[in-house]
Amino acid sequence: MKIVQNYIDGRFASGKCEFADVNPSDGTVIAQVTEADASQVDEAVGAARCSLRGEWGRIGVRERAARLHRVADVIEKRFDCFVQAEVADTGKPISLASKLDVPRAATNFRVFADLVKMSGLESFQTETPDGTNALNYAVRKPLGVVGVITPWNLPLLLLTWKVAPALACGNAVVVKPSEETPATATLLAEAMQDAGIPNGVYNVVHGFGPGSAGEFLTQHPDVDAITFTGESRTGAAIMRAVAPTVKPVSFELGGKNAAIVFADCNFEEAVSGLSDAVFLNTGQVCLCAERVYVERQIFVAFVEALKQKAGSLHSGWPNDEQTNLGPLISAQHREKVLSYYQLAREEGATVVTGGGVPTFSDDRDHGFYVQPTIYTGLAESARCVKEEIFGPVCHIAPFDSEEEAVAMANDTKYGLAASIWTGNLKRGHRVAQQMNVGITWVNCWFLRDLRTPFGGAGLSGIGREGGIHSLNFYSELNNICIRL
Ligand code: NAD
Repeated sequence: MKIVQNYIDGRFASGKCEFADVNPSDGTVIAQVTEADASQVDEAVGAARCSLRGEWGRIGVRERAARLHRVADVIEKRFDCFVQAEVADTGKPISLASKLDVPRAATNFRVFADLVKMSGLESFQTETPDGTNALNYAVRKPLGVVGVITPWNLPLLLLTWKVAPALACGNAVVVKPSEETPATATLLAEAMQDAGIPNGVYNVVHGFGPGSAGEFLTQHPDVDAITFTGESRTGAAIMRAVAPTVKPVSFELGGKNAAIVFADCNFEEAVSGLSDAVFLNTGQVCLCAERVYVERQIFVAFVEALKQKAGSLHSGWPNDEQTNLGPLISAQHREKVLSYYQLAREEGATVVTGGGVPTFSDDRDHGFYVQPTIYTGLAESARCVKEEIFGPVCHIAPFDSEEEAVAMANDTKYGLAASIWTGNLKRGHRVAQQMNVGITWVNCWFLRDLRTPFGGAGLSGIGREGGIHSLNFYSELNNICIRL
């Protein structure tokens, strides 16, 4: 049986406990994963600290950037290996892993390697009370040791979204990938070695949250900052854990995202865009739309068209190029999603399509598949309209006016993303600016420019990452004032 180990100070390390890594498409155990205990997390943090005093702390920005490009080169060279590891861990379709997850991981390193070279100094000439001048300028310094905690839905993409800017700014990291998807973070360790990243700069500790590697990392007094992507309530727990040591946090959390479809939209484009927005990665993308509001004139036609799209999805084996709907990540997560399918019925929903588990008569029946599901008829106060489900499911409700649509879309404690579908550009701008979210798409979804700010309002997060916002989080500014 394959063993996925921790990676500490440039060496793979096993430990006392192991847990199973399960393939969600057929429920088989594909590896045993070494769980890091408190002493191994401590060792990883110590190695990271030590690396900052060594070569990594001395090399300049240009050399750091060059090595990050080399990490991207290695990811590209070992592309199939990364794709296969991601597919086996997540069950996601190979087409998705090879078009989105792995290419974006390499791009994350390239973008931040280039960006950090271009980030300039902030400076001001200041008049002093006695009429002479002073020069203020701010220098960027690394934060130090950054704890990186990531989820299972886009494992390598989200991990590198944080690791790349953290390293670009000169930090060292200890990463704690999701217990569900440990493989690609570990493969990345090999890429770091091949790319000449010094020992201790990138460390991986495996395990769970409470009472395990996640908590050991957040509570560690020598970790300078935590960057986290995951559920909002985990964010709350991490906030409590970091409070005594006042660590800065960057949180990318859950969502209950709305889409607003106006009658003047390009109907085909909206249906196709929303089909992606609801079902991509089996609905396990924080940006997925779980609430769809459609102008009444086209409501019936839209519901029917999205139902057709759901019916055309192919729940195949992940390695089949035709598959575009994989399983959910785990038996536990499937139970959660199915409990919402049941709750929706109890709350009075009309089931347009789905609502259950598909059968295959092969080993996929031991996997964690669910049917793509569409509901209508729920009250806006229903739990299924308020709570994040994180599956291939949406509720569609009609609206009669722009004002009503905006009010319903904003009636949530989350604030991650929204999409607006309209042929009226003025309306697109007007409505987009009223959305209480971190990112609003007009006539598109999940189109990302990595230089732009990314994050959420309310329960969806704290802070922004992307472009200069990432560099700001992963560095400390030291303002220097010189009397001239
Ligand atoms: P999760 O919060 O259960 O776990 C995320 C990570 O946190 C895992 O590595 C887990 O082991 C760790 N963890 C759990 N409890 C912890 C604790 N007390 N202390 C330290 N670490 C702890 O989330 P998940 O189920 O893996 O991912 C799904 C969630 O992530 C959804 O809510 C989704 O919306 C969110 N998400 C958000 C974004 C975003 O960019 N906003 C992106 C992807 C996923």
